[in-house]
Amino acid sequence: MGCTAEQVTRAVIEAAGVVAEHRSELIELDRAIGDADHGENLNRGFVAIVEALAQASPQTPGAVLKIAATTLISKVGGAAGPLYGTAFLRAATKLGDRSEVDVEALVEVLRAALEGVQARGKAVEGDATMVDALLPAVAAAEVAAKGGADVAGVLAAAAEAADKGAESTVDLVARKGRASYLGERAIGHLDPGARSTALLLHAFAEAAQ
Ligand code: ADP
Ligand code: MG
Repeated sequence: MGCTAEQVTRAVIEAAGVVAEHRSELIELDRAIGDADHGENLNRGFVAIVEALAQASPQTPGAVLKIAATTLISKVGGAAGPLYGTAFLRAATKLGDRSEVDVEALVEVLRAALEGVQARGKAVEGDATMVDALLPAVAAAEVAAKGGADVAGVLAAAAEAADKGAESTVDLVARKGRASYLGERAIGHLDPGARSTALLLHAFAEAAQ
């Protein structure tokens, strides 16, 4: 049994709620090593996504994610808008016009999202970016899927791995994005994009329950 367009829409709305709840936290994380706009950027994007979904009522999971992608790309500036936009766009493209997202498709979608972020931003593991959350999340999703987990189980495993990956950025020197200008001074700080990636995965996992 897979997730329908309606369920994916609900998951994205849940994600918007989590982003709104953590807006200040993300702003403060970005204030420490960037320009304090990550929480605001992402929240503006997700508010616009919820509006766009209500307007369009997309009929396939891929169409839902495509609306999220185009909204993020057009409404969210900075590094994260285009990066998350690309992630959602690759995910949408991977789904095509299939009517449901099953475990197999979910793992492919997560992998496609990671590849999109890396193609766009050129960050690798250890650069202290959202890749440090997303990459272990995809690996954990694959392991969980192989072990027979359902959609909710795969997303829960991904979210948990993303938490650990995000936490790992605290000890890293940022090598991409604004935080890289700080050099060693970025050590000791959680990367805002890694944190938001973990939050989004938790929201999706929660919605899949
Ligand atoms: P900006 O840095 O332009 O102000 P945001 O504050 O919205 O944009 O997003 C910052 C986050 O974007 C960082 O915390 C990091 O996770 C992510 N990021 C920045 N550059 C890259 C990159 N090249 N690849 C992957 N992620 C990146
Ligand atoms: Mg910023």
